[in-house]
Amino acid sequence: MRIALILAAGQGRRLAADRPKAYVPLAGLPVLRRSVLAFLRHPEVDGVQVVIDPDHRRWYEQAVGDLSLPPPVMGGASRQESARRGLEALAAQGARQVLIHDAARPLVSGGLIRRVAEALARHAAAAPALPVVDTLRRLEDGRPGAALSRENLLRMQTPQGFAFQSILEAHRREAGRSHSDDVGVALAQGVEVAWVAGEERNVKITTPGDLRFAEELLRASPRTHRTGFGYDVHRFADRPPLVLLGVSFADHPGLLGHSDADVGLHALTDAILATVAAGDIGTHFPPDDLRWRGADSAHFLRRALALLADAGGRLEHVDITLLLERPRIGPRREAMRARLSELLGLPTDRISVKATTSEGLGFVGRGEGVAAYAVATASFLEG
Ligand code: MG
Repeated sequence: MRIALILAAGQGRRLAADRPKAYVPLAGLPVLRRSVLAFLRHPEVDGVQVVIDPDHRRWYEQAVGDLSLPPPVMGGASRQESARRGLEALAAQGARQVLIHDAARPLVSGGLIRRVAEALARHAAAAPALPVVDTLRRLEDGRPGAALSRENLLRMQTPQGFAFQSILEAHRREAGRSHSDDVGVALAQGVEVAWVAGEERNVKITTPGDLRFAEELLRASPRTHRTGFGYDVHRFADRPPLVLLGVSFADHPGLLGHSDADVGLHALTDAILATVAAGDIGTHFPPDDLRWRGADSAHFLRRALALLADAGGRLEHVDITLLLERPRIGPRREAMRARLSELLGLPTDRISVKATTSEGLGFVGRGEGVAAYAVATASFLEG
């Protein structure tokens, strides 16, 4: 069993005055959430344990409270003490290996996690590192002075991986001494540490400049696209209002069914869920659950968007076709696109809404109901 131990007990307020650094949003998701998701979804990782400051519980719940995680471990006065407490908490769980990671490195890639995990098959400890390429000089009287050799220097990153028992014992023996990372703790106890290639994009976010840099990295990263499809039908009822794509037709009979029966939003929700292969609307909101009776279907759409964001996805475009004889959609089309723009956070030139009749044929032609088709395109970070 291989567990990721994520350290988020830092007090750093250089990123934002109103919250600790692990909880600052990075392109829409808290830094800690990005770090946790990187490990939680990794096939080589069996579980994730987070260590936090006891005063940050509220932030923790907001950031990752909905994910399947064990309760957080309360950290100590230093990073080293927090790591030791995290390891002690894992001791009873039979972990064979542990990957200790700083929450402040949210851009850790799946490939890097895999490299560290694979190195642990052959070594008791392995950590990612990068060579130093810049010339290093000593600061002498406030000015650049003598050059230092960079030949034998490494910049250490996380996750640092260890055979569980050996790092737990090393931490116990080194308690009270001061090491800036877990490799330092291991080395002090004579554990041999291997290194694997780190990644420049695995930046540690400690200043507002780092945060902007990380945002630029995310924006510039290569992305792949996935397309999801959704379809839904609802039968007409006797009473108004009809709600289509978030727009109400007060004088037209409405539709029967789940929630406000917004057939267009249901098809669109299914299409977005499909981009992350997360089932359909009924998987997440069972139709027999009375809570959703008459509910605004925007609620379902928001849930699908949250699942998409968690998967690292970004919605790029949607295309919806409504199939109905009446009412005419044309006069309300722009209102629908404006409402969808609000709900989806997309500009209207990426929101296509079309409508057609079915020439009097079939159940749509007989005016018995409305059908909707939707296609959603989302982009995802590669790797
Ligand atoms: Mg439906």
